[in-house]
Amino acid sequence: MNRLAEELARFCDTHRLEEKIFVSPSLAIGHQIAETVVREGYPWINLRIETVHTLAHSMIETQLVQEGLRIVSRAQALAMVEQTCLRTLTPGGYFGKLRDQPGFHRALKATIEDMRVAMVSPRTPMAELLENSRKGHEIQIMIRVYENSLAENHLVDHVEILRRALEKVKAEDKRISTNGFFLIPESLELSSHERDFLERLASGRIHVLAADDPSAWNARALPVQILSALGEENEVREVFRRILGRGIEADRVEVLYTDPTTYLPLIYELGAQYGINCTYAEGVPVVFSRPGQAVLGYLAWLGSDYDVSNLSRILAADVVDLRKAAGNENPPGPVRAARVLRDAGVGWGRERYLSCLNDLMRVYRERERTDLQDSEIPRDREFHSKQINAVTAVRSFVQDLFTLTPVPDTQGRVALSELALAAALLVEKFSRRADELDGMASMALRGLFEALSSLPAMRIGFLDAIRRLREAVGNAYVGAQTPEPGYLHISDFRTGGYSGREYTFILGLDESRYPGTGLQDPILLDHERRVINEQIAPQRLSLLGQLPQENTVALRACLARLRGRITMSYSCRNLIEDREQFPAPFLLDIYRSLKDDPATDYTALRSAIGTPAGFIPSQTTYLDETEWWLSRLKELGRPNEGIAAMVRAVYPWLAHGYHAQAERISDRFTVFDGWIKDTHGEIDPRLNRVPVSCTEIEALARCPFAYFLRYVLEVEPPDDYGRDPTVWLDAMAFGILLHEIFHSFMAEITAREEKPNFTRHWERLRAIAEECITRWRHRMPPPNLAAFTTQRSHVFAACYTFLKDEEIHCQQGTPRYFEIPFGLPGLESAPPIGSPDPVSIDIGEGKDFMLRGRIDRVDHKGRDEYEVWDYKSGSSRNILEEKQLNRGRQIQHALYARAVEILLARVQKQGRVTRSGYFFPGLKGEGQRIAKPQDTLALEKVLGTLFGLLRDGIFPYAPDPDFCGFCDYRCVCKGPEKANAQTQMKLENRGADGNPFEPMRRLMDCDD
Ligand code: SF4
Repeated sequence: MNRLAEELARFCDTHRLEEKIFVSPSLAIGHQIAETVVREGYPWINLRIETVHTLAHSMIETQLVQEGLRIVSRAQALAMVEQTCLRTLTPGGYFGKLRDQPGFHRALKATIEDMRVAMVSPRTPMAELLENSRKGHEIQIMIRVYENSLAENHLVDHVEILRRALEKVKAEDKRISTNGFFLIPESLELSSHERDFLERLASGRIHVLAADDPSAWNARALPVQILSALGEENEVREVFRRILGRGIEADRVEVLYTDPTTYLPLIYELGAQYGINCTYAEGVPVVFSRPGQAVLGYLAWLGSDYDVSNLSRILAADVVDLRKAAGNENPPGPVRAARVLRDAGVGWGRERYLSCLNDLMRVYRERERTDLQDSEIPRDREFHSKQINAVTAVRSFVQDLFTLTPVPDTQGRVALSELALAAALLVEKFSRRADELDGMASMALRGLFEALSSLPAMRIGFLDAIRRLREAVGNAYVGAQTPEPGYLHISDFRTGGYSGREYTFILGLDESRYPGTGLQDPILLDHERRVINEQIAPQRLSLLGQLPQENTVALRACLARLRGRITMSYSCRNLIEDREQFPAPFLLDIYRSLKDDPATDYTALRSAIGTPAGFIPSQTTYLDETEWWLSRLKELGRPNEGIAAMVRAVYPWLAHGYHAQAERISDRFTVFDGWIKDTHGEIDPRLNRVPVSCTEIEALARCPFAYFLRYVLEVEPPDDYGRDPTVWLDAMAFGILLHEIFHSFMAEITAREEKPNFTRHWERLRAIAEECITRWRHRMPPPNLAAFTTQRSHVFAACYTFLKDEEIHCQQGTPRYFEIPFGLPGLESAPPIGSPDPVSIDIGEGKDFMLRGRIDRVDHKGRDEYEVWDYKSGSSRNILEEKQLNRGRQIQHALYARAVEILLARVQKQGRVTRSGYFFPGLKGEGQRIAKPQDTLALEKVLGTLFGLLRDGIFPYAPDPDFCGFCDYRCVCKGPEKANAQTQMKLENRGADGNPFEPMRRLMDCDD
């Protein structure tokens, strides 16, 4: 036992039946000391653990209830400081420029609290005391306004509770216990008011318990070990390894840290990963819980202008419970729910969600109707009903979120209290609670938000309100516990070391963390605090520049009260920044003390510590399989084939991957490069008769491998709704919009037997464009007005170019058919030549295939002559005028020419296409037209070669980086450079393998 516990045991022994009130720095510490005493065989009775605050609070509890007063929370205090700044500071004042800065509010809150603890009141003449009287004046006003806000909101802080209790005890000369002894550790730090309160309360029955002297921290020959580690994670791992490796029961160990921000998450996560039970003196951050993650995700969603990826993330992470939204006990699973949002194509923006989800619901219902018309299979019904249930639940969830989320006013402001209430409702209604931590976090968060929502409505910027709530959630901890049997106890070194456990590990003793830096308070500097202290003596404000000295004393006091074995550690490397870290000077002091040699230096210390702990355990204790394998590899020396074979033998999937990689980098074309042997013609459209589109054929010609992923395996990248604030419609949507405008306009004037004429039709074309733009704007709200205006002007520019060019172009012919679908049964067929059936394209040697598609425009040129045109909204860069088919990468014009002749014949019209090409009315296309001659033989040769790839199942990477362009599959092939070089190498190998690459070589030889 340490000295304090011994003293307590002795007093309890000599005053067995009398009431004893042990005044401890905290209830948790007091209980730990009292339990240590019992555990060591000194039973006690009639001992009560209290703190100054609990004593003060219990004295005025009734008064607080009668006056309807509540204790202010940290988040409420911060909100009130912000209100104070907004109310009192003016732009021209001393702190004026900082009045809406979050960092300033945080610092000011700490300063005000310091001043209140030191009983600096609004009456303290700050303007006179500080060099800058404006500054002093503003601080004085802010203290007064803050105190008024506490009163207005019926809130009290601990300072007020102590003040009231002191007043009461003075007035009544009241002792809380007539015969009790007040046992006060000599190490207990008390302000003069606290001391006054205790002395009056105890009326002379104070007994001071001696504690270990911090200055004598090295007086005992401590069995201290020092270890270093490569990074903080390995530091924690090594502690766990040592505990497990030495078979030490968890409840004989206490782990202390210097830096909660770094070590608490690491200990929590590694402890959970390896099933090591821990109690946490400070509790666990609520952000580790599902309710914490749900509310952070919700706030991130609001703060990103409702970016769907943030909402999808919390659905996919399974931190929200959709049962209430689904209205039944079978809500969609997390992945299905997240996929609904993706499939709805929302992207971002509050306005888009419900309309997009309604559209998706319509699509799902339509699919259900058409799919189930002929199907009696129950599985099909189940599939569709799950889809519809998922959209219903997600839609209802989103609707509820919108209902509870306040809408910012025209100045972009909301009441913080309303947003806090929304967050509280989210936690209550939708956060998933799967374990004890979730339950505690849910309660804590609701309490936190309800406290904030009880404040008067203060309107602040929407993003500021979100940031405020995020900060409050980030600072919330739950589940603080005292040591428990079977659990490691984890604590900060300043409040730890009271458990009386035999083993103590102290982490984070590198010089960057300990003893810390003595940064002064930016609001009230230390020299100003000193001046104030002279005025308010015997009270005193703490001097923040003295933090390192205070930390040094705290660690010495901690060491002085510890018994048993101590291990101190530090991280000798910052793995993120890849730089060395050094031990804290305190470790050198320890080492000198151990060696009893004040001249020992860091070199000796480091050599005594030895090799730092890393990812490979030095002992035979492994936290997981990875550590075991790494240590085997280290034991056997440099990796060699024997070891690799051993690993592959244990992990067949690794063996498979290893083989695949070896095959890929060989010069042979193998199944791992995209070769499906024995396709039996299943993917050759000449044999399977499945209609194909020009887009698919051109994709095959560009890169067979990408084609294989997209059209054979049907692997599609997730839709990217990444937001570009400068763009309203992406290239595809912009193209569809232009097509709609041109189609409506041409169909309308052709029905009146008119030809395009700029003078006559410009206003009408503009009106049609405006209608289409309005419709699209409703469907896809733009991110901002600037993006919308820019793209709107691009649409009008394209319309201008279109009409000007068409006026000239149509002098030589008559536009006849528009947007003609064929082989697309879902689309309404445009009379008279559109058709739900695909067309059969003859490719010579008695073979054909079925083509489907949609032709933008057919013009009648003479008796039986026609032209085919395709509108392109982008630039003409990718259509090479001098290339006829460009090895199949530009084949649409040739195939559509054939298709039109067949479609005309189907409706008994004679017709021959004499010209087929592309028209570029957009800004980048500058009105260019590119038409290409028809060459039947070249077309048949290219198609025969391409379909040969499908027949033989050959899907290599594109042979040339120029073919790749923008490609969604770069992450699969590892990028064009590598992929193209690999294909070239395999193309050049004309050796064995039955020449599987032959169709690819033939394609490369198609030089048009
Ligand atoms: S990036 Fe890769 S997958 Fe995409 S086209 Fe190029 S080679 Fe093919």
